[in-house]
Amino acid sequence: MAFIPVNEPRLPANAKTYLNQCIDTGWVSSEGAFVQDFEEKFSYSVDRRHGIAVCNGSAALEVAIAALNIRAGDEVILPTFTIISCAAAIVRAGAKPVVVDADPQTWNMDVSQIEAAITPHTKAIMVVHIYGLPVDMDAVIAIANKHQLAIIEDAAEAHGQNYRGRPCGSFGDISTFSFYANKHVTTGEGGMVLTNDNALAERCRSLRNLCFQKSQRFVHEELGWNFRMSNLQAAVGVAQIEEIPVIADRKREMGQQYSRHLSSVSGLELPLAATHYAENIYWVYGVVLADDRSETAKDVMSALAQRNIGTRPFFWPMHEQPVFKSVGLFKDVCCPVSERLARRGFYLPSGTALTDKDLERVAYTLKEVLK
Ligand SMILES: *Cc1c(COP(=O)(O)O)cnc(C)c1O
Repeated sequence: MAFIPVNEPRLPANAKTYLNQCIDTGWVSSEGAFVQDFEEKFSYSVDRRHGIAVCNGSAALEVAIAALNIRAGDEVILPTFTIISCAAAIVRAGAKPVVVDADPQTWNMDVSQIEAAITPHTKAIMVVHIYGLPVDMDAVIAIANKHQLAIIEDAAEAHGQNYRGRPCGSFGDISTFSFYANKHVTTGEGGMVLTNDNALAERCRSLRNLCFQKSQRFVHEELGWNFRMSNLQAAVGVAQIEEIPVIADRKREMGQQYSRHLSSVSGLELPLAATHYAENIYWVYGVVLADDRSETAKDVMSALAQRNIGTRPFFWPMHEQPVFKSVGLFKDVCCPVSERLARRGFYLPSGTALTDKDLERVAYTLKEVLK
């Protein structure tokens, strides 16, 4: 049986046409016209005035933190159950990450724990929509307004997803996306920073481009990065903009199919189909082994690998990362829900190239392994 990878993207035919235009015209760098086109079309699709394309989603988070002037002495609240990029951006800026645990149902940050984490040093709340369900934004916005905190919204897993009918990525003072190959929209590698604030947008553009100055190009008032996106990448991105609703529909359909196949398996917790504010878009289809099962996620993942099926473990919580522990962060932090998710959860092949037949084979094989 052929190997089924955990993610295989499917790109529209237009991508080739646009890429060829870059090659034929020689416009391959970030100066090419597709970059601005992609910024305009993507930001429009998430209802933001400005889009600043960057080289990946981790860079987008670094730019967001720097643009908000978050630095030593500041604290940022974020979920512990997320990717390292979120905490890394905060730590690299010299600020302190303060984590909250996950909600056991949605796997998103438990918004009821945010207020207790606020101190006089708190500058921002970084929300991350995890695996397909959005964070409960109304609750976050109320807290942010009450305490005058900025919201950084990491929507890297939520292209095409909505919260109460409004696009994910439209809630942050600054929002970020990734266009890595396993995201709903991909440029291979890529990312974007989005905002409605003109001054913040200007700052993000400068930070992405080494803080070159208009008047005296090679005289710098501030240090930036070369985080630019190339025209080749943007060309592939532009080709997918109109596909976003189609991709979202397909992801929902795949998630629902997995749930239908797996709902009868005992000792397997499946993702929520919906909350009162959103339907799951199943960026990835995650499953969690119930505590009464003797296997760990690792055991089941290796059994699936032996049967030629790729999987990925869930995120490892930020407060359990050796790299942060070694510098004295997160002493005495305990987040039991995230610790359990990390050990009991993993996700199944979820890329848009997955066929219904492949999906059936994955579900069937998982059932066999868990028998
Ligand atoms: C993928 C991802 C990122 C990082 O994006 P890269 O483009 O891989 O750097 C950041 N945040 C979340 C939530 C992600 O899923």
